[in-house]
Amino acid sequence: MTEPLPVVHYRCATCGGTGVDSMADTCRDCDGFGIDNHGA
Ligand SMILES: [Zn+2]
Repeated sequence: MTEPLPVVHYRCATCGGTGVDSMADTCRDCDGFGIDNHGA
């Protein structure tokens, strides 16, 4: 039996997963999703 592993979404290191950067603006690194989609 293969136990499904919990899917881990990598939180964006730029905004910490909030989708908002330090300047209270939409994080350009994750486009506001808070998830690092660059694989970094
Ligand atoms: Zn971000």
